[in-house]
Amino acid sequence: MRLDESAMNIPINLNDYTPTILVVDDVPANLDVMVAHLQQENIELMVALSGEEGLELAKAKLPDLILLDIMMPGIDGYETCRRLKSDPLTADIPVVFLSAKSDEIDVEKGLNLGAVDYINKPFSLPILRARLNNHLALKHKSDMLIQLACTDELTRIANRRHFDLIFEREWLRAQRNQTRLSLLMIDVDHFKQYNDHYGHGEGDRCLKQVARALTVELHRPADLLARYGGEEFVVLLPETDFEDAEFIANQLAAAVEKLAIAHKKSTCAPHVTISIGLASQLPGSQASRQQLLKQADRSLYKAKNSGRNQVYGTMSAINEAPAAN
Ligand code: GH3
Ligand code: MG
Ligand code: MG
Repeated sequence: MRLDESAMNIPINLNDYTPTILVVDDVPANLDVMVAHLQQENIELMVALSGEEGLELAKAKLPDLILLDIMMPGIDGYETCRRLKSDPLTADIPVVFLSAKSDEIDVEKGLNLGAVDYINKPFSLPILRARLNNHLALKHKSDMLIQLACTDELTRIANRRHFDLIFEREWLRAQRNQTRLSLLMIDVDHFKQYNDHYGHGEGDRCLKQVARALTVELHRPADLLARYGGEEFVVLLPETDFEDAEFIANQLAAAVEKLAIAHKKSTCAPHVTISIGLASQLPGSQASRQQLLKQADRSLYKAKNSGRNQVYGTMSAINEAPAAN
């Protein structure tokens, strides 16, 4: 996916895009026909023989489009669509009904359930293909816009807006499941002097390299690195306790040191270094999300005041009373 286009100027190029379509139909022969017709296209196909199976596959594989039959034993296509649309995970997947039910009231019902299209059986293959291509192009564009909205332009990692969203979700999940959650606030040391000495362009290059090095060190899919602002980064570590977070923080600091980006004006080292503030939330803690952030920020301040180029963490404030608001 290319992210260097402006949001208003994203080309819809389906040539280097292999979308996935999930076809749900209880009649195996219908699925065979669909596979035979669509397989030549630049499309990956998945099939399900019931609404239930379709829902499971949709959640597990997140296809780009779902082609849905209506009359099926068990939950029918309407109910399958309703469930898809009420689950945030699958709500944005375009659903196209493909049905022998052709009464106005059936079509209206399908579209009112949130389907983007309703195609009657028997269908014309060229028209089906054309419609699917149009819907897939729109889905592709919408995915790219969502990705752009979540990405920091300079470093290509998550931006603060995305971090805020995920932090809220993970914090609620940690509360619900009584799991630990750790947070790292990262700040490049003496970065003003770096810019002043090497120029803003080199400063930008340095931030990109730092972001890349930090990304490589994080291995779990749920870990999130984001640019918090300026030369500050934040790392969200779900289901990670203080000791593990401290270990990761030290690895991140070492990874940046290993870049060995010369920094003549730093008082910490002859190269670029970072300071890291760590905060860790214990299961059952009454502290709010904002308090956890504040604690990480305070730890970062301590790391700076203790000479920079180090990790500072404390668990002391995590049992503070909840914030008034
Ligand atoms: P400390 O060690 O205490 O963190 O000192 P510092 O100089 O890193 O901190 P300070 O907050 O004084 O300066 C941060 C600098 O980061 C100032 C600002 O010009 C620079 N900066 C912020 N965003 C960017 C950016 O996108 N690109 C570049 N090149 N510089 C940036
Ligand atoms: Mg700063
Ligand atoms: Mg700094």
